[in-house]
Amino acid sequence: PDLKARATSKAAGIPGVKHVIAVASGKGGVGKSTTSCNLALGFAALGLKTGILDADIYGPSQQKLFGLRGKPRQLGPRMLEPLERFGVKVMSIGFLVEEDSAMIWRGPMVISAITQMLREVAWDDLDILVVDLPPGTGDAQLTMAQQAPLAGAIIVSTPQDIALIDARRGIAMFQKVSIPILGLIENMSSFCCPTCNHVTPIFGHGGARTEAERRGIPYLGEIPLDMQIRKTSDEGRPIVAIEPDGVHAKHYVSIAREVW
Ligand code: ADP
Repeated sequence: PDLKARATSKAAGIPGVKHVIAVASGKGGVGKSTTSCNLALGFAALGLKTGILDADIYGPSQQKLFGLRGKPRQLGPRMLEPLERFGVKVMSIGFLVEEDSAMIWRGPMVISAITQMLREVAWDDLDILVVDLPPGTGDAQLTMAQQAPLAGAIIVSTPQDIALIDARRGIAMFQKVSIPILGLIENMSSFCCPTCNHVTPIFGHGGARTEAERRGIPYLGEIPLDMQIRKTSDEGRPIVAIEPDGVHAKHYVSIAREVW
């Protein structure tokens, strides 16, 4: 993929934002939010002005991953200021409503919340806005695919068949609405034992690459299952932010470079 050279979809642009990309997954728990967060930090590490929009209405987690508390400032009647950490502008439904209240929203509420977070936020001068989509292919994802000026979508999957089957549905959805698939990432690809360095493919290995090849979409690479990635995420100090030159960060930064 070459994002710089890509035209965005026909949906109306977001003022001040050059490219919007979505990160999607077929099912929950495959590491989509962790990957979105570290990928956004990877774009920032490349010197790009970066924002992240947490559109995972049913389980927002970017505020926790970025270690952010507090509420966005109201800049005008219909304009919010995104919060900022580690050089990335962050907006999440988690800033705006109580933790569990969005869980029971119906389609129209979800659609209006996502539209607000896209269009009524002072993103101001971003090279790239990464959108962390809810898992699956429901109303929210379809709205996002149709209303946001998406340059493309990245699909995150574990190597397991079940996650891959769901990822196939995600791929089909984006293809149906003519959003280009920027590529597939295999997360939790293998586990390297920190004591003996033995590599174990806990969820299998290579399934995403095979699937990408079969479908003719780019394979963006794999990210290992690693305790440091989990631990730093839980602490709100994501791995790419605290060790941008470390072995873990390099996976995300090289995927960001490949996509850009
Ligand atoms: P999703 O957004 O797909 O539901 P999350 O990003 O919330 O998934 O990840 C689910 C859990 O897996 C979290 O506890 C997260 O820290 C952990 N996790 C994600 N990717 C990795 C990885 N590569 N190595 C270790 N733990 C990971």
